[in-house]
Amino acid sequence: MPQFNMILIDEADAKGMQVETHVAGSPLREGGGDETYRCGACKTKLLVNVAHRDAHGAVIKCGKCGRINIEPHHHHH
Ligand SMILES: [Zn+2]
Repeated sequence: MPQFNMILIDEADAKGMQVETHVAGSPLREGGGDETYRCGACKTKLLVNVAHRDAHGAVIKCGKCGRINIEPHHHHH
């Protein structure tokens, strides 16, 4: 079960991106795969046991610390 820390970007960099908002207390999405993604700042789990395709391209605002995260594989595709 691979676990990844997401990459932090500035709010200005997220302009024009579709940002999903995570709510503290439960993951934004859960299930469907075996990859877990954590906030790059506070390590809150934002996506739990999701499929890679569900994480690909994700832009998520952490509900705990308010930082904006993008998925770490983005640049390899
Ligand atoms: Zn966070």
